[in-house]
Amino acid sequence: MYTKQRRIDLIQTFEGLECEICGHPEVQNLIWYPHHKKIRHNLLRFGKRSEEFEDAKKLIEQSIPVCLHCREDRYYALLIGEDKDPRWPMIIIID
Ligand SMILES: [Zn+2]
Repeated sequence: MYTKQRRIDLIQTFEGLECEICGHPEVQNLIWYPHHKKIRHNLLRFGKRSEEFEDAKKLIEQSIPVCLHCREDRYYALLIGEDKDPRWPMIIIID
């Protein structure tokens, strides 16, 4: 079940954080790179006592907060083969 509260909870996982690439601080514009898709899926669909919720927490630890703007820059850099920026984690997922 996709509730409004779960969507808010997901955004609040960024509380007090900022984009690790450019420093953008607005939580609603941040995503967990590179595991956001799976984290979002798990947090929206499963309750706090589920295994999936725990998995999402582990994936958050393995991700960095980045803003949507930087995510798009990264996506483009990977497409044209210029992913030389050392601030990004080595894991590469294009989706
Ligand atoms: Zn950024």
